[in-house]
Amino acid sequence: MFLKSIQIFGFKSFADRSVIEFRDGISALLGPNGCGKSNVVDSIKWVLGEQSTKTLRAEKMEDVIFNGTENRKALNVAEVTLTLSNDDGVLPIEIPEIEVKRRLHRSGESEYFINSAPVKLREVRELFFDTGIGKSSYSIMEQGKIDQILSNKPEERRYIFEEAAGITKYKLKGAEAERKLQRTEENMRQVEGILREVK
Ligand code: ATP
Repeated sequence: MFLKSIQIFGFKSFADRSVIEFRDGISALLGPNGCGKSNVVDSIKWVLGEQSTKTLRAEKMEDVIFNGTENRKALNVAEVTLTLSNDDGVLPIEIPEIEVKRRLHRSGESEYFINSAPVKLREVRELFFDTGIGKSSYSIMEQGKIDQILSNKPEERRYIFEEAAGITKYKLKGAEAERKLQRTEENMRQVEGILREVK
């Protein structure tokens, strides 16, 4: 799996449709303070489903939409598309290239797409489970994150190792199965109660 490109439109300082392509090796984004380097990183977190405005350095989600400048009108929609090559089949869809898109309208309406098909946020999250890419995975290390990881609580550090080891999805499925079991036990108790009354 390889991040081939990011297409950004209307997200934070990106008023024009911009495409950033990545090639083999290390890519660096260079530019003066405030030119939008961190906004590119924010856009990746956002398209992966980030819901925390604090993490996105915004007060409310609408703030990620280009809010205009002196000589440019604000936009009403933000859209970010990640294109990933999946030649090695790491992502659980048998297609060599996968596009993930998130769109937000100023009205608050939010949309996600995988290869142009509308999907739920949950499906975007499931696509990246245990791949090392995810909104809270170790693949995005912004300024200060390494310090944070080193000083975090042991349970929080363990989450990072679990995601790297590929067991997060099994833990989530286990928790879901447990909840179902509890609901079933509750239903059984109710049915037994009714049966006792009827007898
Ligand atoms: P530094 O090197 O200081 O960390 P940077 O290159 O990472 O800077 P960013 O933090 O990515 O810069 O970008 C900040 C710029 O993005 C600011 O000029 C800010 O006004 C602009 N910006 C943020 N949100 C919006 C928005 N919704 N609409 C328009 N511009 C925005």
